[in-house]
Amino acid sequence: MENLRVLELYSGIGGMHYALTESGVTAKVVAAVDVNTTANEIYKHNFPNTPLLPKTIEGMTLDDFNKLAFDMILMSPPCQPFTRIGLQGDISDPRTKSFLYILDLLPRLIKLPRFILLENVKGFEMSSARDSLVKTLKECGYNYQELMVSPTCLGMPNSRLRYFMIAKAPPGSFSFHTTSEIQEGFPQPADKVLLEPSSPISPSPTSTAYQEEDHKEDEGGILYKLERAQDAERKSTQNRDQSLRQISVYLEDQGEGEMEQYLLPTKTLLRYALLMDIVRPTCRRSVCFTKGYGHYVEGTGSVLQSCMETDMEAAFKSPERLSDEEKLNQLSRLKLRYFSPREIANLMGFPKHFTVPKNISTKQQYRVLGNSLNVHVVARLIELLVS
Ligand code: SAH
Repeated sequence: MENLRVLELYSGIGGMHYALTESGVTAKVVAAVDVNTTANEIYKHNFPNTPLLPKTIEGMTLDDFNKLAFDMILMSPPCQPFTRIGLQGDISDPRTKSFLYILDLLPRLIKLPRFILLENVKGFEMSSARDSLVKTLKECGYNYQELMVSPTCLGMPNSRLRYFMIAKAPPGSFSFHTTSEIQEGFPQPADKVLLEPSSPISPSPTSTAYQEEDHKEDEGGILYKLERAQDAERKSTQNRDQSLRQISVYLEDQGEGEMEQYLLPTKTLLRYALLMDIVRPTCRRSVCFTKGYGHYVEGTGSVLQSCMETDMEAAFKSPERLSDEEKLNQLSRLKLRYFSPREIANLMGFPKHFTVPKNISTKQQYRVLGNSLNVHVVARLIELLVS
Protein backbone atom coordinates (compact mmCIF):
# COMPACT_ATOMS: atom_id res chain seq x y z
CA MET A 1 0.00 0.00 0.00
CA GLU A 2 1.16 3.53 -0.72
CA ASN A 3 2.16 5.86 2.07
CA LEU A 4 -1.12 6.76 3.84
CA ARG A 5 -1.50 10.34 4.99
CA VAL A 6 -2.82 10.31 8.53
CA LEU A 7 -4.48 13.08 10.54
CA GLU A 8 -4.16 12.54 14.30
CA LEU A 9 -6.79 14.60 16.11
CA TYR A 10 -6.74 15.07 19.92
CA SER A 11 -3.22 13.68 19.68
CA GLY A 12 -2.26 13.97 23.40
CA ILE A 13 1.03 12.16 23.98
CA GLY A 14 0.76 10.28 20.69
CA GLY A 15 -0.79 6.94 21.66
CA MET A 16 -2.40 6.73 18.21
CA HIS A 17 0.89 7.55 16.50
CA TYR A 18 2.67 4.71 18.34
CA ALA A 19 -0.17 2.35 17.45
CA LEU A 20 0.06 3.36 13.79
CA THR A 21 3.79 2.62 13.76
CA GLU A 22 3.25 -0.69 15.55
CA SER A 23 0.57 -1.73 13.06
CA GLY A 24 3.19 -1.82 10.33
CA VAL A 25 0.97 0.13 7.95
CA THR A 26 3.07 2.35 5.70
CA ALA A 27 1.85 5.74 6.77
CA LYS A 28 2.89 9.20 7.77
CA VAL A 29 1.18 11.49 10.29
CA VAL A 30 0.74 14.69 8.27
CA ALA A 31 -0.61 16.65 11.24
CA ALA A 32 -1.33 16.10 14.92
CA VAL A 33 -3.69 18.51 16.67
CA ASP A 34 -4.06 19.16 20.41
CA VAL A 35 -4.41 22.13 22.75
CA ASN A 36 -2.81 20.62 25.86
CA THR A 37 0.62 22.18 26.35
CA THR A 38 2.03 19.37 28.54
CA ALA A 39 0.84 16.66 26.17
CA ASN A 40 2.16 18.65 23.20
CA GLU A 41 5.57 18.99 24.80
CA ILE A 42 5.77 15.22 25.25
CA TYR A 43 4.50 14.62 21.72
CA LYS A 44 7.12 16.91 20.19
CA HIS A 45 9.84 15.32 22.30
CA ASN A 46 9.02 11.89 20.84
CA PHE A 47 7.95 12.89 17.33
CA PRO A 48 10.12 15.89 16.50
CA ASN A 49 9.47 15.50 12.77
CA THR A 50 5.68 15.39 12.90
CA PRO A 51 3.87 18.69 12.29
CA LEU A 52 2.04 19.37 15.57
CA LEU A 53 -0.64 22.07 15.50
CA PRO A 54 -1.14 23.44 19.02
CA LYS A 55 -4.62 24.77 18.35
CA THR A 56 -8.25 23.87 18.76
CA ILE A 57 -9.84 21.69 16.14
CA GLU A 58 -12.73 24.15 15.76
CA GLY A 59 -10.09 26.78 15.00
CA MET A 60 -9.24 24.95 11.76
CA THR A 61 -11.19 25.71 8.61
CA LEU A 62 -12.54 23.30 5.98
CA ASP A 63 -9.80 24.63 3.74
CA ASP A 64 -7.11 23.81 6.35
CA PHE A 65 -8.41 20.25 6.48
CA ASN A 66 -8.61 19.90 2.69
CA LYS A 67 -5.02 21.09 2.30
CA LEU A 68 -3.82 18.26 4.53
CA ALA A 69 -5.23 15.77 1.99
CA PHE A 70 -5.40 12.95 4.53
CA ASP A 71 -6.48 9.35 3.93
CA MET A 72 -7.05 8.41 7.53
CA ILE A 73 -8.30 10.06 10.74
CA LEU A 74 -7.20 8.70 14.11
CA MET A 75 -8.98 10.41 16.98
CA SER A 76 -9.81 10.21 20.69
CA PRO A 77 -12.24 13.04 21.47
CA PRO A 78 -12.42 14.18 25.12
CA CYS A 79 -14.18 11.48 27.10
CA GLN A 80 -15.36 13.43 30.16
CA PRO A 81 -18.80 14.18 28.66
CA PHE A 82 -19.45 10.44 28.43
CA THR A 83 -17.88 8.88 31.53
CA ARG A 84 -20.19 7.40 34.09
CA ILE A 85 -18.34 9.33 36.78
CA GLY A 86 -18.59 12.61 34.88
CA LEU A 87 -21.75 14.61 34.55
CA GLN A 88 -22.58 12.97 31.23
CA GLY A 89 -23.20 16.25 29.50
CA ASP A 90 -22.97 14.44 26.16
CA ILE A 91 -23.57 16.82 23.22
CA SER A 92 -24.51 19.71 25.50
CA ASP A 93 -21.04 19.59 27.09
CA PRO A 94 -18.81 22.27 25.53
CA ARG A 95 -16.05 19.66 25.25
CA THR A 96 -18.09 17.81 22.60
CA LYS A 97 -18.26 20.88 20.35
CA SER A 98 -15.06 20.13 18.46
CA PHE A 99 -16.23 16.58 17.74
CA LEU A 100 -19.55 17.79 16.35
CA TYR A 101 -17.55 20.23 14.26
CA ILE A 102 -15.57 17.34 12.75
CA LEU A 103 -18.80 15.48 11.97
CA ASP A 104 -20.14 18.56 10.26
CA LEU A 105 -16.97 18.94 8.17
CA LEU A 106 -16.59 15.33 7.13
CA PRO A 107 -19.21 15.22 4.33
CA ARG A 108 -17.95 18.52 3.00
CA LEU A 109 -14.33 17.47 2.50
CA ILE A 110 -13.10 17.37 -1.11
CA LYS A 111 -12.02 13.79 -0.55
CA LEU A 112 -13.53 11.50 2.12
CA PRO A 113 -10.80 9.88 4.22
CA ARG A 114 -10.63 6.16 3.43
CA PHE A 115 -10.18 5.13 7.04
CA ILE A 116 -11.45 6.46 10.37
CA LEU A 117 -10.68 5.14 13.84
CA LEU A 118 -12.22 6.68 16.95
CA GLU A 119 -11.54 5.74 20.57
CA ASN A 120 -13.63 6.68 23.57
CA VAL A 121 -14.74 5.53 27.02
CA LYS A 122 -17.36 2.94 27.77
CA GLY A 123 -20.52 5.03 27.92
CA PHE A 124 -19.90 6.74 24.58
CA GLU A 125 -21.95 4.01 22.87
CA MET A 126 -25.06 5.31 24.65
CA SER A 127 -24.52 8.98 23.82
CA SER A 128 -26.12 11.23 21.23
CA ALA A 129 -22.59 12.04 20.07
CA ARG A 130 -22.29 8.38 19.04
CA ASP A 131 -25.66 8.55 17.28
CA SER A 132 -24.49 11.61 15.34
CA LEU A 133 -21.26 9.80 14.42
CA VAL A 134 -23.16 6.77 13.08
CA LYS A 135 -25.58 9.01 11.20
CA THR A 136 -22.76 10.94 9.52
CA LEU A 137 -20.86 7.77 8.59
CA LYS A 138 -24.00 6.23 7.12
CA GLU A 139 -24.78 9.36 5.11
CA CYS A 140 -21.27 9.29 3.69
CA GLY A 141 -21.61 5.60 2.82
CA TYR A 142 -18.97 4.29 5.22
CA ASN A 143 -18.77 0.64 6.19
CA TYR A 144 -18.21 0.50 9.91
CA GLN A 145 -17.95 -1.61 13.02
CA GLU A 146 -18.25 -0.60 16.64
CA LEU A 147 -16.27 -2.55 19.22
CA MET A 148 -15.60 -2.73 22.92
CA VAL A 149 -12.09 -3.94 23.67
CA SER A 150 -9.91 -4.23 26.76
CA PRO A 151 -6.14 -4.96 26.75
CA THR A 152 -6.93 -8.18 28.65
CA CYS A 153 -7.91 -9.52 25.18
CA LEU A 154 -4.22 -9.37 24.32
CA GLY A 155 -3.08 -10.99 27.56
CA MET A 156 -2.15 -7.71 29.20
CA PRO A 157 -2.87 -7.55 32.95
CA ASN A 158 -4.69 -4.22 32.78
CA SER A 159 -8.35 -3.41 32.24
CA ARG A 160 -9.08 -0.49 30.03
CA LEU A 161 -12.37 -1.30 28.37
CA ARG A 162 -12.88 1.22 25.59
CA TYR A 163 -15.31 1.95 22.78
CA PHE A 164 -13.91 1.92 19.25
CA MET A 165 -15.37 2.83 15.90
CA ILE A 166 -13.53 1.69 12.79
CA ALA A 167 -14.88 2.88 9.44
CA LYS A 168 -13.98 2.46 5.79
CA ALA A 169 -15.10 4.80 3.02
CA PRO A 170 -16.97 3.29 0.07
CA PRO A 171 -16.26 0.94 -1.65
CA GLY A 172 -14.02 -0.41 1.15
CA SER A 173 -15.13 -3.45 3.10
CA PHE A 174 -13.77 -5.37 6.08
CA SER A 175 -12.08 -8.76 6.18
CA PHE A 176 -14.58 -9.87 8.85
CA HIS A 177 -18.38 -9.86 9.02
CA THR A 178 -19.59 -6.51 10.27
CA THR A 179 -22.72 -6.25 12.40
CA SER A 180 -24.78 -3.41 13.72
CA GLU A 181 -24.19 -4.78 17.22
CA ILE A 182 -21.23 -3.58 19.21
CA GLN A 183 -18.64 -6.31 18.91
CA GLU A 184 -17.01 -7.49 22.15
CA GLY A 185 -13.30 -8.06 21.67
CA PHE A 186 -11.50 -8.42 18.35
CA PRO A 187 -13.54 -9.88 15.48
CA GLN A 188 -12.65 -13.29 14.09
CA PRO A 189 -11.49 -13.32 10.46
CA ALA A 190 -14.40 -14.17 8.16
CA ASP A 191 -12.87 -17.49 6.98
CA LYS A 192 -12.56 -18.72 10.57
CA VAL A 193 -16.19 -18.00 11.31
CA LEU A 194 -17.25 -19.90 8.21
CA LEU A 195 -15.03 -22.86 9.03
CA GLU A 196 -16.37 -23.32 12.53
CA PRO A 197 -20.04 -22.43 12.34
CA SER A 198 -21.13 -24.67 15.15
CA SER A 199 -18.27 -24.10 17.58
CA PRO A 200 -19.55 -22.95 20.94
CA ILE A 201 -18.77 -19.37 21.79
CA SER A 202 -16.29 -19.46 24.64
CA PRO A 203 -16.33 -16.57 27.06
CA SER A 204 -13.71 -14.13 25.80
CA PRO A 205 -11.42 -12.19 28.11
CA THR A 206 -13.42 -9.11 27.14
CA SER A 207 -16.59 -10.47 28.61
CA THR A 208 -14.80 -10.73 31.94
CA ALA A 209 -13.63 -7.20 31.39
CA TYR A 210 -17.25 -6.18 30.95
CA GLN A 211 -18.32 -7.70 34.23
CA GLU A 212 -15.28 -6.32 35.85
CA GLU A 213 -16.06 -2.72 35.24
CA ASP A 214 -19.76 -3.11 35.65
CA HIS A 215 -19.87 -4.50 39.13
CA LYS A 216 -20.42 -1.26 41.00
CA GLU A 217 -24.17 -1.43 41.45
CA ASP A 218 -24.75 -4.81 43.01
CA GLU A 219 -24.68 -5.49 46.70
CA GLY A 220 -22.70 -8.15 48.48
CA GLY A 221 -20.92 -9.17 51.66
CA ILE A 222 -17.90 -7.20 52.78
CA LEU A 223 -14.63 -9.00 53.43
CA TYR A 224 -11.77 -8.00 55.70
CA LYS A 225 -11.13 -5.19 53.29
CA LEU A 226 -13.97 -3.01 52.03
CA GLU A 227 -14.50 -5.42 49.22
CA ARG A 228 -17.45 -7.62 48.38
CA ALA A 229 -17.08 -11.36 48.19
CA GLN A 230 -17.85 -11.44 44.48
CA ASP A 231 -15.21 -8.79 43.77
CA ALA A 232 -12.60 -10.79 45.62
CA GLU A 233 -13.68 -13.91 43.76
CA ARG A 234 -13.50 -12.18 40.38
CA LYS A 235 -10.03 -10.85 41.18
CA SER A 236 -8.69 -14.24 42.18
CA THR A 237 -10.18 -15.84 39.05
CA GLN A 238 -8.33 -13.29 36.94
CA ASN A 239 -5.13 -13.85 38.85
CA ARG A 240 -5.31 -17.53 37.94
CA ASP A 241 -5.99 -16.84 34.25
CA GLN A 242 -2.86 -18.08 32.50
CA SER A 243 -3.78 -16.24 29.31
CA LEU A 244 -2.87 -13.02 31.11
CA ARG A 245 0.73 -12.09 31.86
CA GLN A 246 1.96 -11.22 35.34
CA ILE A 247 2.28 -7.62 36.44
CA SER A 248 6.00 -8.28 37.17
CA VAL A 249 6.71 -8.27 33.40
CA TYR A 250 5.79 -4.58 33.30
CA LEU A 251 7.64 -3.35 36.39
CA GLU A 252 10.73 -1.19 36.34
CA ASP A 253 13.96 -2.94 37.04
CA GLN A 254 15.08 -0.35 39.58
CA GLY A 255 16.78 -0.55 42.94
CA GLU A 256 14.34 -0.30 45.81
CA GLY A 257 15.63 3.15 46.71
CA GLU A 258 14.57 4.48 43.30
CA MET A 259 10.98 3.43 43.83
CA GLU A 260 10.74 4.88 47.34
CA GLN A 261 9.35 8.12 45.90
CA TYR A 262 6.23 6.19 44.87
CA LEU A 263 5.41 4.84 48.33
CA LEU A 264 1.95 5.87 49.49
CA PRO A 265 2.07 8.74 51.99
CA THR A 266 1.00 8.00 55.57
CA LYS A 267 -2.14 10.09 55.30
CA THR A 268 -3.30 8.20 52.24
CA LEU A 269 -2.58 4.85 53.85
CA LEU A 270 -4.65 5.69 56.92
CA ARG A 271 -7.53 7.15 55.02
CA TYR A 272 -7.83 4.95 51.99
CA ALA A 273 -6.12 1.62 52.66
CA LEU A 274 -9.43 -0.20 52.76
CA LEU A 275 -10.63 1.22 49.46
CA MET A 276 -7.56 0.74 47.35
CA ASP A 277 -7.20 -1.90 44.69
CA ILE A 278 -3.99 -3.65 45.70
CA VAL A 279 -2.05 -5.96 43.41
CA ARG A 280 1.22 -7.87 43.74
CA PRO A 281 3.87 -8.47 41.07
CA THR A 282 2.56 -12.01 40.63
CA CYS A 283 -1.00 -10.82 39.95
CA ARG A 284 -2.46 -10.94 36.45
CA ARG A 285 -4.77 -7.95 36.78
CA SER A 286 -4.88 -4.24 37.51
CA VAL A 287 -7.62 -1.65 37.16
CA CYS A 288 -7.68 1.11 34.59
CA PHE A 289 -5.27 3.97 35.34
CA THR A 290 -7.02 7.29 35.01
CA LYS A 291 -5.75 10.85 35.08
CA GLY A 292 -6.19 11.37 38.83
CA TYR A 293 -3.78 8.51 39.62
CA GLY A 294 -1.24 9.28 42.34
CA HIS A 295 -3.48 12.07 43.55
CA TYR A 296 -6.91 10.65 44.22
CA VAL A 297 -6.84 7.06 45.38
CA GLU A 298 -10.26 5.62 44.92
CA GLY A 299 -10.98 4.19 41.48
CA THR A 300 -8.03 5.79 39.70
CA GLY A 301 -5.83 2.71 39.35
CA SER A 302 -4.27 -0.15 41.29
CA VAL A 303 -1.44 0.21 43.79
CA LEU A 304 1.38 -2.28 44.17
CA GLN A 305 2.30 -4.26 47.26
CA SER A 306 6.07 -4.26 46.98
CA CYS A 307 6.95 -6.22 50.11
CA MET A 308 5.97 -9.83 49.57
CA GLU A 309 6.99 -11.09 52.98
CA THR A 310 3.97 -9.48 54.58
CA ASP A 311 0.63 -11.11 54.32
CA MET A 312 -2.08 -8.71 53.22
CA GLU A 313 -4.80 -10.21 55.35
CA ALA A 314 -2.62 -9.88 58.45
CA ALA A 315 -1.95 -6.24 57.62
CA PHE A 316 -5.65 -5.52 57.34
CA LYS A 317 -6.70 -7.48 60.38
CA SER A 318 -9.34 -5.79 62.56
CA PRO A 319 -8.33 -2.21 61.79
CA GLU A 320 -11.23 -0.86 63.84
CA ARG A 321 -9.58 -2.07 67.03
CA LEU A 322 -6.25 -0.46 66.31
CA SER A 323 -4.93 2.99 67.00
CA ASP A 324 -3.78 5.04 63.99
CA GLU A 325 -0.20 4.32 64.89
CA GLU A 326 -0.74 0.57 65.08
CA LYS A 327 -2.70 0.62 61.85
CA LEU A 328 0.08 2.48 60.09
CA ASN A 329 2.59 0.07 61.47
CA GLN A 330 0.75 -2.86 59.99
CA LEU A 331 0.00 -1.25 56.66
CA SER A 332 3.47 0.15 56.06
CA ARG A 333 4.86 -3.35 56.20
CA LEU A 334 3.17 -4.00 52.85
CA LYS A 335 5.22 -1.21 51.26
CA LEU A 336 2.32 -0.10 49.12
CA ARG A 337 3.41 2.10 46.27
CA TYR A 338 2.01 3.69 43.16
CA PHE A 339 3.04 2.29 39.80
CA SER A 340 5.57 4.68 38.29
CA PRO A 341 4.58 6.56 35.11
CA ARG A 342 6.99 4.31 33.17
CA GLU A 343 5.28 1.20 34.52
CA ILE A 344 1.86 2.56 33.53
CA ALA A 345 3.24 3.35 30.08
CA ASN A 346 4.45 -0.28 29.90
CA LEU A 347 1.01 -1.57 30.90
CA MET A 348 -0.48 0.63 28.18
CA GLY A 349 1.83 -0.78 25.53
CA PHE A 350 4.04 2.28 25.00
CA PRO A 351 7.40 1.33 23.50
CA LYS A 352 10.64 1.60 25.49
CA HIS A 353 11.78 4.55 23.41
CA PHE A 354 8.78 6.64 24.56
CA THR A 355 10.28 9.19 26.97
CA VAL A 356 9.20 12.34 28.74
CA PRO A 357 11.11 15.63 29.01
CA LYS A 358 12.75 16.12 32.42
CA ASN A 359 10.65 19.16 33.34
CA ILE A 360 7.33 17.23 33.27
CA SER A 361 6.30 16.30 36.81
CA THR A 362 5.15 12.85 37.90
CA LYS A 363 1.66 14.21 38.48
CA GLN A 364 1.54 15.65 34.95
CA GLN A 365 2.73 12.32 33.56
CA TYR A 366 -0.04 10.43 35.38
CA ARG A 367 -2.52 12.91 33.97
CA VAL A 368 -1.58 12.58 30.34
CA LEU A 369 -1.08 8.82 30.52
CA GLY A 370 -4.51 8.45 32.12
CA ASN A 371 -6.00 10.26 29.13
CA SER A 372 -4.19 8.08 26.63
CA LEU A 373 -4.87 4.61 25.27
CA ASN A 374 -3.55 1.09 25.02
CA VAL A 375 -1.17 1.15 22.07
CA HIS A 376 -1.27 -2.60 21.32
CA VAL A 377 -5.08 -2.65 21.22
CA VAL A 378 -5.23 0.27 18.79
CA ALA A 379 -2.42 -1.20 16.66
CA ARG A 380 -4.51 -4.39 16.15
CA LEU A 381 -7.54 -2.28 15.27
CA ILE A 382 -5.58 -0.26 12.70
CA GLU A 383 -4.43 -3.55 11.13
CA LEU A 384 -8.05 -4.70 10.96
CA LEU A 385 -9.14 -1.40 9.50
CA VAL A 386 -6.56 -1.28 6.75
CA SER A 387 -6.42 -4.98 5.83
N1 SAH B 1 -5.15 9.79 22.33
C1 SAH B 1 -4.47 10.78 23.12
C2 SAH B 1 -5.28 11.34 24.26
C3 SAH B 1 -6.57 11.97 23.93
S1 SAH B 1 -7.33 12.74 25.33
C4 SAH B 1 -3.19 10.20 23.68
O1 SAH B 1 -2.77 9.12 23.27
O2 SAH B 1 -2.59 10.80 24.56
C5 SAH B 1 -8.13 14.07 24.56
C6 SAH B 1 -7.19 15.18 24.10
O3 SAH B 1 -7.98 16.11 23.37
C7 SAH B 1 -6.54 15.96 25.22
O4 SAH B 1 -5.15 15.89 25.06
C8 SAH B 1 -7.05 17.40 25.02
O5 SAH B 1 -6.05 18.37 25.24
C9 SAH B 1 -7.46 17.41 23.56
N2 SAH B 1 -8.52 18.34 23.21
C10 SAH B 1 -9.71 18.51 23.83
N3 SAH B 1 -10.49 19.39 23.18
C11 SAH B 1 -9.76 19.81 22.11
C12 SAH B 1 -10.04 20.72 21.04
N4 SAH B 1 -11.18 21.37 20.99
N5 SAH B 1 -9.08 20.91 20.10
C13 SAH B 1 -7.91 20.23 20.15
N6 SAH B 1 -7.60 19.35 21.15
C14 SAH B 1 -8.52 19.15 22.11
